[in-house]
Amino acid sequence: MTLDLSVAGVQGTYLGWDLPAHRAGCERTEWTVDLRTEHGAYRHPIQGRPHDCPNEHCDHSTTLTRVVVRLLCADCGTVETIDAADPLRERTTTARGGYGMNPRPMYGLYLYPGAPWLDFGRRGTPTPHDYLVTTTIVDRLEAEHVVGQITQALGKRGAVRWSATALPRPDGPILGHGALRWSALREGISSVGSAAKWIRRQVDAAAGGDTA
Ligand SMILES: [Zn+2]
Ligand SMILES: [Zn+2]
Repeated sequence: MTLDLSVAGVQGTYLGWDLPAHRAGCERTEWTVDLRTEHGAYRHPIQGRPHDCPNEHCDHSTTLTRVVVRLLCADCGTVETIDAADPLRERTTTARGGYGMNPRPMYGLYLYPGAPWLDFGRRGTPTPHDYLVTTTIVDRLEAEHVVGQITQALGKRGAVRWSATALPRPDGPILGHGALRWSALREGISSVGSAAKWIRRQVDAAAGGDTA
């Protein structure tokens, strides 16, 4: 599924990422990663014109910081380099961004934590993330695994509430944040657990099971 996604929010945490490609037949999924940082690299004039750009945060200097990411798979002999001028770099943690954390099992569902769209609940609750929800544990979360989404919302007097969406449907409405379309939405939920329970009911109802 091709999704037009920003990297923000829980959908951007997991969906829309590509794995670097090994050569056909290579069984490895891992890469050896190296970073090379070159401070004061010469900024080449573009089409003979000295650098001039509208970015107010740019110092327009004749030098830049160049970062090269080098990927190696010695098994299939692939070397890929990604060469970037003045790239934005950010180091964070799995706990902060959600990505890389284990999913939380709940009501036979798995809640994959991702970056919250809104930041206000992050420190105010013991469940500081938004979630994509699946019915199975997966190695790599893709759109086709997703059965629901749980996101923070703001309730009355600043209380943290949760919104849940369930059952992706390609022709359904976009509800809440992100590019996935859904069959159902519920807002104003008081906890992540209640949101998961609601998604469980939607999944069971769609499967023709118990809807109680
Ligand atoms: Zn500039
Ligand atoms: Zn390979």
